Amino acid sequence: MSNRKRILITGAAGFLGSHLCDRFIKEDYHVIAMDNLITGRLKNIEHLFHLENFEFYNHDVSKFIHVPGKLDYILHFASPASPIDYLKIPIQTLKVGSLGIHNCLGLARVKKARVLIASTSEVYGDPTVHPQPEEYWGNVNPVGPRGVYDEAKRFQEAMTMAYHTFHGVETRIVRIFNTYGPKMRLNDGRVLPAFIGQALRGEDLTVFGDGSQTRSFCYVDDLIEGIYRLLHSDYAYPVNIGNPDEITICDFAEEIIRLTGTTQKVIYKDLPKDDPKQRQPDITKAKSLLGWEPKVSRSEGLKLTYEYFKQLSPEELNEVDHYNFDKYIH
Ligand code: UDP
Repeated sequence: MSNRKRILITGAAGFLGSHLCDRFIKEDYHVIAMDNLITGRLKNIEHLFHLENFEFYNHDVSKFIHVPGKLDYILHFASPASPIDYLKIPIQTLKVGSLGIHNCLGLARVKKARVLIASTSEVYGDPTVHPQPEEYWGNVNPVGPRGVYDEAKRFQEAMTMAYHTFHGVETRIVRIFNTYGPKMRLNDGRVLPAFIGQALRGEDLTVFGDGSQTRSFCYVDDLIEGIYRLLHSDYAYPVNIGNPDEITICDFAEEIIRLTGTTQKVIYKDLPKDDPKQRQPDITKAKSLLGWEPKVSRSEGLKLTYEYFKQLSPEELNEVDHYNFDKYIH
């Protein structure tokens, strides 16, 4: 039997999950990839199917998870993660953050595996502290449209800490800030694929509200490096991983217009309810604990991302919705 480390990645066919699969294959792990393909896409990982150290299971992790053999690590990345996605499938979002993490932690306990969970800057809600350090408890509306995601992720953190303190499971919690890069879904509603998709289709760019709200965008390779380091650290509490380079959405739209050379203009639409006004990670902890900080500038990262979107087929570019969740509605 091979002495490769064995890692289970849930949400493996999604944007971040698929980049994690690539990274752990590169590090010569045995990767057990799991996804129910509601929002994930096999296309993101099919280049790994021929490898003997890669397996894929089409499974909903909100249901009991069975994995034969030993397991060293579990990365729980299954979840709808864009505001449009979790508005469309709110119950699944709540289930994967609650029942799903319970199953992962139970599995970790039996296998004596270390678990790293994908949490989010959404645990800070519409923050009143800026930038956001891990010690900030947040300003979340539990019954607003984002509540299904924010509260699922907050519950997920609480459950993870309970398994750590009560059962002694080794846990890691990454709070992920806005991340972008190749393999994002063009139609997931997030601002970067929305703007680039609009530019490529020759449509106007839709800025929500007056565009004065801020976000801080991290290139996916930087995020994956941060997660890799956190997994191998000995720190059980939440760590922010993100790029502190903050920008207003209006300025971001202008950057995309320059990048793509589109002749379209910006149009303004209503700001969605509870849309956070500002967001910027305080990464002091990641710097000191992990020696990590982002390396890829926004201009570099946007170029790489645009290259990816440019080579999509016309069908992919015009695809409005690819959801496959009818059978999962409970
Ligand atoms: N946004 C926008 N136009 C779009 C999509 C999003 O102006 O077509 C705004 C959205 O209102 C928010 C920001 O861009 O203020 C980031 O939105 P995203 O959905 O990417 O993620 P969030 O950080 O809000 O979870």
